[in-house]
Amino acid sequence: MSVLVYTESEQGQFKKTALEVASYAKGVAKMLGVSVTAVAFNAEDTSTLATYGVDKVLNVKNDKLEKFNAEAYADALAQAAKKEDAKVIIVSQSANAKYLAPLLAVDLEAGYASNVVALPENTSPVTVKRTAFTNKAFNITEITTDRAIIGVSKNAYGLHETEASGTNEDFIPELGSEDFTVNVESVDKATDKVTIADAEVVVSGGRGLKGPENWGMIEELADVLGAATACSKPVSDMGWRPHSEHVGQTGKPVASNLYIAIGISGAIQHLAGINASKTKVVINNDPEAPFFKAADYGVVGDAFEVVPKLIEKLKTF
Ligand code: FAD
Repeated sequence: MSVLVYTESEQGQFKKTALEVASYAKGVAKMLGVSVTAVAFNAEDTSTLATYGVDKVLNVKNDKLEKFNAEAYADALAQAAKKEDAKVIIVSQSANAKYLAPLLAVDLEAGYASNVVALPENTSPVTVKRTAFTNKAFNITEITTDRAIIGVSKNAYGLHETEASGTNEDFIPELGSEDFTVNVESVDKATDKVTIADAEVVVSGGRGLKGPENWGMIEELADVLGAATACSKPVSDMGWRPHSEHVGQTGKPVASNLYIAIGISGAIQHLAGINASKTKVVINNDPEAPFFKAADYGVVGDAFEVVPKLIEKLKTF
C-alpha cells in the first residue's frame, strides 16, 4: 500500500508544486505507515523527487502525453492508484490538477477534498482542513469513501526535504481513444519573466498608478525582487496591463510568500484572490483604504514617492 502523488512537470522539469505535493504525500505516508509512489509524465530526471520523500516513481513515457490531457492523465493515475493499492491520492491545486481531480475521483469512486491547507487531522476517515468562501473561512471535511483524493493548496504545506529510496519504474498505462476525446490546445508564450503561479513574490499595481506609462517602476521593483508583476481588474480591463496579470476573484489566484499591492484599494473581490499570500504589504496614499485592514505591513504614502525610494534601498542589499 502507498500514498500516490501526481507530480506535475513542464517540458520535462518538475514544477515547484510537484515537490510541495511530494512533501505533503510523505507527511501523509508517515501518518499511515506506508510509502510514497509518484506518477511522473515524461519527466527528464526524476531523482529530485527522492529528496522530497518519494520512495518509488512510476515513470510514464508516452509521446501522446507530452501535453497535459485531463482524461488520459486521470485514467493513467487511476490505473497507478489501483496497481499500488493507494487509498490516498495527492494532487496540487494548479489549473490542470483542478481539472483532472474530479475525473480521477469518478474513475476511482473516491471522495475529493480541494483547497486543503494542512496534513490530515485524522486518517480514518481521512479528515482535512480546507479553505472556504474564497479563503475567508476554514472547514473540516471528512472523506468517507474507501479512497480519498486530497488537493493541496499552493504554498500551504511548503517544501520539506527528507530521505527516501527513490526507485524508478517504467509504467505503461492502457489508454484508448476514449481517453483523448478532448484536445486542449495551449499556446506557450516565450518569456523570461516569473509567472504569477510560480512566484514567491508578486508586485501588483492598481488604478492608483494613473496609467500604463507609470508601470516602469512596478517592473523595476519586480526585477529587483525577482518577482512577478500583477494588477487589479480595472487595470487589465482598461488595457493598461495584459489580462494574464489580472488577479482576484475573477482573475488568477495568488499564493505567494510576499504580495506587494501598490495603488490598489483592497476591494473584497481583489482580496478574495490574494488572501492565501503569506505576507501582504500595501502602499496607498489613503489611510482609509480597506487594504490596510488585510495587510501585514502598510505604507501610507504616494506610490510615486515611495516606490522609487524602495527600489533605491533594495538595490543596496
Ligand atoms: P480603485 O478602487 O480605484 O483604487 C485605487 C487605489 O489607489 C485607491 O485606494 C487610492 O487611494 C489609491 N491611490 C490613488 N493614487 C495613489 C497614489 N499616488 N499612491 C498610492 N495610492 C494611490 N477586482 C480585482 O482586482 N480583481 C478581481 O478579480 C475582481 N473581480 C470582480 C468581480 C466582480 C463580480 C466585481 C463586481 C468586481 C470585481 N473586481 C475585481 C473589481 C473590484 O470591485 C474593484 O473595483 C477593483 O479591485 C478596484 O481596483 P483598484 O484597487 O485598482 O482601483
